[in-house]
Amino acid sequence: MVLRMKATARILNGIEIAAQIKAEVAEEARALAAGGITPGLAVVLVGHVAASEIYVRSKVKTCAELGMFSEMLTPPESVTTEELLDLIAGLNARDEIDGILVQLPLPAHVDTRRLLEAVSPDKDVDGFHPINVGRLQSSAAHGVEAGTALAPCTPAGIMEILKRSGVPVAGQHAVVLGRSEIVGKPVAMMLLNASATVTVCHSKTVEIGRYTRDADILVAAIGRPGFVTPEMVKPGATLIDVGINRITDAAEVARFFPGDVARAAQFATRGSTLVGDIHPAAFALAGAYTPVPGGVGALTIAMLMKNTVQAAKARRGAAAGRSVVAAAKA
Ligand code: NAP
Repeated sequence: MVLRMKATARILNGIEIAAQIKAEVAEEARALAAGGITPGLAVVLVGHVAASEIYVRSKVKTCAELGMFSEMLTPPESVTTEELLDLIAGLNARDEIDGILVQLPLPAHVDTRRLLEAVSPDKDVDGFHPINVGRLQSSAAHGVEAGTALAPCTPAGIMEILKRSGVPVAGQHAVVLGRSEIVGKPVAMMLLNASATVTVCHSKTVEIGRYTRDADILVAAIGRPGFVTPEMVKPGATLIDVGINRITDAAEVARFFPGDVARAAQFATRGSTLVGDIHPAAFALAGAYTPVPGGVGALTIAMLMKNTVQAAKARRGAAAGRSVVAAAKA
């Protein structure tokens, strides 16, 4: 008699992977400190967007936890593009600042593109500057590990999840849903750099399911709750859910999480819950998947810290090496 057992999908735990990365970053920060260098991050937060304030606070807190220096600059909502350009120029010139992060979104009257391009590429820890976008693209044969580019944090976090979970990428068919500058396009480039065969789908793609059903690795980054349904998934695939969608309708919660007592309780207390771009029912078919919350989202700040240390090493590391040698000789 053949016993057919349903395989259980492996959960790719972003919180655990982020903790590993933070521990490594703290170690590197200690090594730099031995050479007299404290990696420093400047965060520019314009006005009072509640969600942005929460993100920025947690970035500043993580810097302190990992032995890094951080500075928060909070110009008012009325600040002009020219004033912000002056502020960025000042940060570019300061040696103790290794990373500059401009928290988005900015008020509508500010020229976001001009501002992001004004950040020195060597301090662009968000990886949004065209020079870093180009470096990422031209490191095709080597991937991000070549260390030539500061890569955007969320896509870099996705690659860390795949690598540290032992998910094979080379030779696999990776399908990316979404082509934004901050997630879809860079993660597609990184997967290509890691030798996957990559398909990118977007809002004009006709019949997305015919691509997703062939995906060994499916990355969903479109911002549509539960868009990827079980029929769209190849059994055994690795599902990477980037979407963070807050749902506030009880009927929707019941539709996405039928019989899930914990979710129902959370919804009753908070009046909302999070769902990704992949329908939770599709996870049962996967070989492995990232949950929402606790998956990709957990990696973003860890990767920002990693980028800040990488930027410090690239710009000031040689000097640190010299002072360590000098200290040893003294
Ligand atoms: P975005 O800038 O709004 O881009 C959305 C992309 O999805 C676009 O390329 C769009 O296509 C495509 N799209 C939208 N509706 C579609 C549909 N029905 N079918 C196919 N493609 C569709 O979004 P984003 O900033 O990349 O973010 C995507 C999601 O990831 C959001 O839920 C966001 O909250 C989340 N996110 C999470 C993190 C994290 O740390 N975990 C970080 C960033 C973003 P077109 O180009 O054709 O318009």
